[in-house]
Amino acid sequence: GPALPLPDGLPEPELNPNAEVVLERRYLRKDGHGTPYESPRELFWRVASVVAAQEQQYEQGRNPDELARQFYELMTSWTFLPNSPTLMNAGTELGQLAACFVLPVEDSMEGIFDAVKNAAMIHKSGGGTGFAFSRLRPSNACVGSTGGVASGPVSFMKIFNTATEQVKQGGTRRGANMAILRVDHPDVLQFISAKERENELNNFNLSVGLTERFMRAVEQDEEYALIAPHNGKTVQTLKAREVFNLLVRKAWESGDPGIVFLDRINRDNPTPELGEIESTNPCGEQPLLPFEACNLGSLNLGRFVLPGETANGGADLVDWERLRETVHLCVRFLDNVIDASRYPLQRITEMVAKTRKIGLGVMGWADMLYQLRLPYDSRRAVELAEKVMEFIRAEARSASKQLATERGPFPAYDNSLFGKQNLGPYRNATTTTVAPTGTLSIIAGCSSGVEPLFALSFTRNVMDNDTLTEANPYFEQALRDTGAYSEQLMREVARTGTIRDMDHLPEELRRVFVTAMDMEPLWHLNMQAAFQKYTDNAVSKTVNLPNEATQDHIRDIYWKAYELGCKGVTVYRSGCKSVQVLCTGEKQ
Ligand code: ADP
Repeated sequence: GPALPLPDGLPEPELNPNAEVVLERRYLRKDGHGTPYESPRELFWRVASVVAAQEQQYEQGRNPDELARQFYELMTSWTFLPNSPTLMNAGTELGQLAACFVLPVEDSMEGIFDAVKNAAMIHKSGGGTGFAFSRLRPSNACVGSTGGVASGPVSFMKIFNTATEQVKQGGTRRGANMAILRVDHPDVLQFISAKERENELNNFNLSVGLTERFMRAVEQDEEYALIAPHNGKTVQTLKAREVFNLLVRKAWESGDPGIVFLDRINRDNPTPELGEIESTNPCGEQPLLPFEACNLGSLNLGRFVLPGETANGGADLVDWERLRETVHLCVRFLDNVIDASRYPLQRITEMVAKTRKIGLGVMGWADMLYQLRLPYDSRRAVELAEKVMEFIRAEARSASKQLATERGPFPAYDNSLFGKQNLGPYRNATTTTVAPTGTLSIIAGCSSGVEPLFALSFTRNVMDNDTLTEANPYFEQALRDTGAYSEQLMREVARTGTIRDMDHLPEELRRVFVTAMDMEPLWHLNMQAAFQKYTDNAVSKTVNLPNEATQDHIRDIYWKAYELGCKGVTVYRSGCKSVQVLCTGEKQ
C-alpha cells in the first residue's frame, strides 16, 4: 500500500554529509528528469509507514500509526536500517523489498535462459541473485537433441554476466551475482581460473562449493572423482591437494574464487524437505533454496554502548535491555517487510511464503569495540562477539516465537528441523544473517558489518580539488581525550591509515585503534567464526591480507575456516588487482 501522509512534528533526520549524497543519488524517489521529489524525512516515513501498515491484516496487529513512529525513530536514530531495496522500493509501484535471491539453473537451453530472464527481472527490482551452475552438463558433453557438444557452466555464465551488464537498477547500480560450482563438477578447474583475466565475469562473485568428502581427500592426499551431473558418470579423477592448491593460488592472485562449505550449510538448512541448498546470494551471507528470497536488516552496534569504563571485557557497558527491545522491534519490522514486498515471480512469492526467512544482523561492530577500548584482534573482543551475537539470536528467536503465536508459524514449520525437534513454533525459518552493509553503513555513518576499519582516517577529494580529511569519530574523540590531537597528526594518519608505528602515541591507543591491515590475518577469521556460531544464515566477511601475505597464509585461513565451522570464506590480498575499491591512506 501507499505511504501514510507525513504527520506533524516528525523530527528531521540528522544526516552525515556522505549519507546526504548517497541518499540523493540512489535512494530518494525521483521524477522523470532525475530530480528527487522526496526528502530524507519523507523517505524514512514512507518506509516506516508502509512496513507498519502490514499490521492491519493481523487480528492481533499493533496500531500502525504508533508503530510507524517507532520504526521511523529506529531508522533515523541510525540504530537499525533495512536492506537497500526496502529503503528504495517500499510504497512504490515496484514494491520489491528483498536484497537476496537464489535461482535454479536447469540443464537445458530453456532452463538456462529462463534463469537469465528471471535474474534480469530481479536485478531490475534491486535484488541480487545467486546461482549454482553445478547441474549443467560439462563442456564437451554430448547434447542429445542436436548431436553437438555442450558449452559448459563457465561459457553460460558469460551470458548471465552480459545480461547483468545491460540491466541498470533504477538507472543507478548494476546487479550483482554469485556463481557456485561444486568441486566435483568436471569443469571445476576452468571455473577456478575463470576470473584470472581482469574484468572477466565482472558482475559475478565466484565460490567453489567444497564438500567434506573433498576436504578429507585433501587431508589424506587422495584423489577424488569428478562426476558429470547429467548422467552421474565419473569423468576423471584429480588429486584433491592439487585442486586445493590451485584454489589457494587463484585467491592469492585475484581474490577469486572464494569457497563455501556446502555440507556445513546444509546441516543448518531448516527445511531440508523443501530441497537442498546449492547457492547463496551475491555476497555469500545468505544461503537460500532455489526460488527463495530473503530480506535483511542491520543493527548498528555502535549505538548500544553505555558510558563509563569497562571492568569485565566490555559486557558491562553493552546496553542489553535496549538491545533486547530493539531486536524485538526489528524482527517485527522484517517480518512485515515479507508481507509488504512484491516479488517478480510467482514461484518466488510461493517459496517466500513457505519459509518466511529474515536476516537480522549487525554493523558498527568495530565502532563498538573502539568505544569499549577492546582491540579487534584480542580474545576479549572475540568473546564479546559471541556474547553479543548469542544474545541477538536468542532475542530474535524469541521475537519470532512471539510473532508465531500472534500470526502463526511459517507454513513449512511442521516438517522443518524446528518442528521435528519441537523447538518452535517460529514465525521465520531463519532470523539472523550478518550482511556486508556496504551502503547502509555509509547512511548510518558507522563501520561496516563486522569488519575492522580499513583506515582510521583518509582524505576524500571533493569538488574543485578541495580535500576533506575524514576520521573515525571514536578515534578522533580518543585523541582529544588524551590530548594527542593535532591537525598535523590527523594529516599523518590520513596518509597511512594506521597509528601502529607511531611510537610517540600512548601504547593503549595504538593497541585499541587497530585497522584491518594491522592485525594477524587469523584474527579476521576468529571474529567471523565467533559471529557465525550464533548466526542462522552466514556472515559476510573478507579476510583482508597485506600484500606480502603468502599462499601458505591463505591455506591456513581456509583450513581454519573449515575447522571453526564457518560457512565459507573470502580473502583479499591488498594490491593484488590494479583497481581496488577500498584502500588505506588516500582514497578517492
Ligand atoms: P546494502 O548496504 O546496500 O543494503 P549490502 O552491502 O549489505 O547492501 O549487501 C547485501 C546484499 O544485497 C548482497 O549480498 C546482495 O544480495 C545485495 N546487493 C548488494 N549490492 C547489490 C547490487 N549492486 N545489485 C544487486 N544486489 C546487491
